Amino acid sequence: MNYSAAIKKLPRKYLPESFEILDWPTLEPYFKELSARPLDSTQALHKWLLDVSEVEAVVSEDACWRQIRMTCDTENTQLEESFNFFMMEIQPKLQPYSDLLNRKLVDSPFTKELDQDKFFTYLRNVRKNIDLFREANIPLQAEMSVEAQQFGMIAGKMSVEVNGREYTLQQAAKFLEDPDRGLREEVYRKINDRRLVDKNELNDLFTSLLVKRNQVAVNAGFNNYRDFRFAELGRFDYDKEACYQFHEAVKLHVMPLVNQIYEMKKKKLGLDTLRPWDVEAEPAGVQPLRPFSTGEELVKKTITCFNELRPFFGDCLQKMKEMGHLDLESRKGKAPGGYNCPLAESGAPFIFMNAAGQLDDVTTMVHEGGHAIHSFLSHELELNGFKEYPTEIAEVASMSMELFSMNHWQVFFDNADELTRAKEQQLERVITIFPWIATIDKFQHWIYENPQHTEEERAAVWVKILDEFTSPVLDFGGLDQYRDYSWQRQLHLFEVPFYYIEYGIAQLGAIGLWQQYKQDPDKAIGNYVNALSLGGTRTLPELFQAAGLVFDFSPAHISGLMGFVKEELDALSA
Ligand SMILES: [Zn+2]
Repeated sequence: MNYSAAIKKLPRKYLPESFEILDWPTLEPYFKELSARPLDSTQALHKWLLDVSEVEAVVSEDACWRQIRMTCDTENTQLEESFNFFMMEIQPKLQPYSDLLNRKLVDSPFTKELDQDKFFTYLRNVRKNIDLFREANIPLQAEMSVEAQQFGMIAGKMSVEVNGREYTLQQAAKFLEDPDRGLREEVYRKINDRRLVDKNELNDLFTSLLVKRNQVAVNAGFNNYRDFRFAELGRFDYDKEACYQFHEAVKLHVMPLVNQIYEMKKKKLGLDTLRPWDVEAEPAGVQPLRPFSTGEELVKKTITCFNELRPFFGDCLQKMKEMGHLDLESRKGKAPGGYNCPLAESGAPFIFMNAAGQLDDVTTMVHEGGHAIHSFLSHELELNGFKEYPTEIAEVASMSMELFSMNHWQVFFDNADELTRAKEQQLERVITIFPWIATIDKFQHWIYENPQHTEEERAAVWVKILDEFTSPVLDFGGLDQYRDYSWQRQLHLFEVPFYYIEYGIAQLGAIGLWQQYKQDPDKAIGNYVNALSLGGTRTLPELFQAAGLVFDFSPAHISGLMGFVKEELDALSA
């Protein structure tokens, strides 16, 4: 197959070229027509599927733009209103039609004549959506979409003052790498004190979301929101037990490595106790890594790096840059976090992030870049529904890119010593992210199994789980007030519940692909491209297989991969 980043906006064959979603009355006639149209032949069904797909793509891209514009400027109330208008006035009216269209499809006698191999995951999703649809959940879901965005509004306003200058929390984080320990502690406390200012507001917001989520699950006939959400996310290939097993495997096979990493760090810094403001620090006399200074520089260097991996990868980012689909630098009034938002009709996605000049930002950039490659590769698929791939494989796309790209990080660093330090930090992160994934995931299981809990219980259980996955080498003495609410910094809890174990499953896949890359780079990149181009047209285990991976997150598999990362890490410092 020939891949090209010369991406084209999908030509419209059903909606007028000039059509824009202004309100529901402009959109409704198309849904009416699609639901009334007779499907009296295989050809008619095929044409109908294409038209439905076109409308889905237009609607999805419209909603994405509203969200992108709002998160880029959270202080602009017009942008917020435009997003809310979509969620409150358009989405709720569209949902009953989507359900109608889904039913029309499965009821059609010609559906059986579709290529069952090609349509297996598509039809499975359609049936899943029919099963979960409840009229009563429409207003709740609309309110939840709007409310979840409040997290970004609240967090986007947070800033602290250091040495007389105002910094966003993302920008201030770079002081945690400073060799001056006093400055690090000061900034650590300022960041955490600033978060505490909004702790009640965030707690109330979360409680409100929890109540609604639980109600949605009950309305759909589930015992709890966890079980509902697993179904909604299409987790057909693993269950809650596998997640529990993952938590335990992290304790058994990852925590010993985390402890080793922190012991080494303590020794390197010459400290008696390792405090949370020390983990990102450099020893005296060593300057923190500064791989770039502006967003412009970040994207330029990333394009060079991607070009060396495969010219197509660099072309994708170049194209996004030309189209203005990048907003990279941190600034006040921007929502926190980073994302790659696929744009279903245009094809070239949008990358949003909060870069401040750190190595972490390079990791985020190549991570989101990996998601972007996935969007480009799956854009050629015939139906919009074919491009809806499982989140677990989406994170394999991004997390593999973090590891692949490391071999070409020279572009970000002037000398061999800095490059080695950067790779060390990256590999340490590959390991230390696992306990945080387990913490967030285990906490969510408890939250939604016990929806009636009080705020005191929530804080107590959070700290208990946090303790299970915190290295004893780290000294948190006297910082309890910060720890009780530290879950509030995790955007996913508010915006995308239960989207977190994915990172663990995907990191294992990414390490597997990186193992392949070490042996045969061309073959590994080939497998990567091969799997991503399938979009969502295969099951998750099949997508892993297409990448030359096994879908497995058993303790034995985790242990084996961790051994490999440890060897690579040791080789760097040898
Ligand atoms: Zn991601």
